[in-house]
Amino acid sequence: MNEPPSSRPEREQDRPERLAVLGDPVLHSLSPPMQNAALRHLHLPYCYGRRHVPAEELADAFRRLRGADYLGWNLTLPHKIAALELVDATDQVAQRLGATNTIVNRAGRLFGFNTDGPGLVAAISEAFACDLKTLRVAVLGAGGGAGQAAARYLGSLNVRELCVVNRTIQKTEALAEELSSSVPVRVGRWEDMGQIFGQADLIVNASSAGLDDTDLNWPADWARPDHLVFDMVYGANETPLVRWARANGARAVDGLLMLLHQGVLAFELWFGKPAPALIMRKALFQAAGREGRGEL
Ligand code: NAP
Repeated sequence: MNEPPSSRPEREQDRPERLAVLGDPVLHSLSPPMQNAALRHLHLPYCYGRRHVPAEELADAFRRLRGADYLGWNLTLPHKIAALELVDATDQVAQRLGATNTIVNRAGRLFGFNTDGPGLVAAISEAFACDLKTLRVAVLGAGGGAGQAAARYLGSLNVRELCVVNRTIQKTEALAEELSSSVPVRVGRWEDMGQIFGQADLIVNASSAGLDDTDLNWPADWARPDHLVFDMVYGANETPLVRWARANGARAVDGLLMLLHQGVLAFELWFGKPAPALIMRKALFQAAGREGRGEL
């Protein structure tokens, strides 16, 4: 027997998709549960979808969504840089970082924003309540997309010193040159990780596979109690870097907090009002398999 509409539980598929994340791969993305929880909570009559878009189909996807009443969308790997060419205007942060992760569609005009940089800093501030201007910062994986954006954004905030580190060192040399006009910057060698820890207060890891051993076999004395370790990588369990850092007395968190904060900022760009951040946090941690661990 059919239930009367009023008593039927609200389902995502009953509401039209007007927001989405575009990526390749995209199946793993935790943005849909986080954003849909916010939309449901505020009784907004839309849902946020997940769209698998290969790089060669990005321009076509933009063309279709632009004309299809979409309020906006997020971009994940590998689209954040290419998307800059497909929008009508960008905000200063997206311009500075050379990447956009949040598109706002205003009556067919597309605006590209970047909430990854501010989201990273909001997550670091929440986790460590620190003053970035006093810190020597090392960015590991600074040759990759996320690491370059992190280094550029942190470099724009007058941190005390920036060390850019990448397995392929050549990828950081131009970046260091570019940033040297705004921040004291140096290039670190991946092989000199002990020395890099010795000369840094905040370590931000954006290397995707560099630190993914089951257990890092790094010496315990690389870590100090005053080290702040922010691993942009995240998963259902502690990442190896977070585990190693905490076991050796440092303070450490993973990148789920960054995903939360960039999502909160994106929501506020789409709707022009405060996002229900606590609702989003609960949904995100639940979707990541981390509810009930005292992290909320
Ligand atoms: P990417 O552009 O493919 O960059 C990958 C980076 O990892 C490069 O610096 C690469 O160094 C390094 N790397 C890969 N394998 C390595 C190894 N075996 N040893 C040392 N370094 C290695 O990827 P991305 O988009 O920057 O993403 C990087 C990570 O950040 C991913 O885990 C992603 O999930 C995470 N991320 C998190 C958030 C968040 O909201 N928390 C946002 C964005 C990204 P080479 O240049 O030498 O290859």
